[in-house]
Amino acid sequence: MAAEVRPRLTVLSGPSGVGKSTVVAHMRKVHPDVWLSVSATTRKPRPGEKHGVQYFFVSDEEFDKLIANGELLEWAEFAGNRYGTPRRAVLDRLEAGEPVLLEIDLQGARQVKESMPDSRLVFLAPPSWEELVRRLTGRGTESPEVIERRLTVAKVELAAESEFDTTLVNTSVEDVARELLALMAVV
Ligand code: ADP
Ligand code: 5GP
Repeated sequence: MAAEVRPRLTVLSGPSGVGKSTVVAHMRKVHPDVWLSVSATTRKPRPGEKHGVQYFFVSDEEFDKLIANGELLEWAEFAGNRYGTPRRAVLDRLEAGEPVLLEIDLQGARQVKESMPDSRLVFLAPPSWEELVRRLTGRGTESPEVIERRLTVAKVELAAESEFDTTLVNTSVEDVARELLALMAVV
């Protein structure tokens, strides 16, 4: 008898600047059918970011409403902004038997593990601390103050690596994307 193949929720986390968005973008280029949850955030869009694509950009009041109406699977405050995963879309995909990927912070990953213990938590680690600083600074999208704030949070996130089921080191974007797809049983 064939073993039951049940798609799992995969959560990708890791410090700001480690390359999560880059890896996910590459993965979707190779496999456009992989579904990634689009989060809501109170952060302002970076140049090139579009509403409904990278995020649903919402006001503080709108975010309050999402929480009050129970529309978020999880949410967290990260470096001065709030971020949350719309619940319905994720549950619909899982019920339809499709693999689901969330790219969220450590606090969100912990909430998901608590409410959905079956989910797989993947930690994306930098090759070194110096390289993480280089990437976050090199991206050029945040002010020095915001970079400092994100690096302070990054130390806490790096210390939580053992809470995750799997660690992938982001040396090569292509390799990590392939490993992630294999974990999600897409390839
Ligand atoms: P995150 O989504 O984790 O905050 P990004 O995907 O925005 O991080 O990546 C931060 C910076 O690091 C970007 O400038 C990106 O081009 C670069 N980067 C990502 N992965 C790698 C890698 N494997 N090697 C070198 N640079 C990378
Ligand atoms: P950024 O502002 O760089 O896009 O994201 C900052 C952090 O918020 C990243 O660690 C990212 O993974 C996380 N994040 C994005 N969406 C969500 C979400 O829906 N929930 C939680 N908890 N974190 C999120």
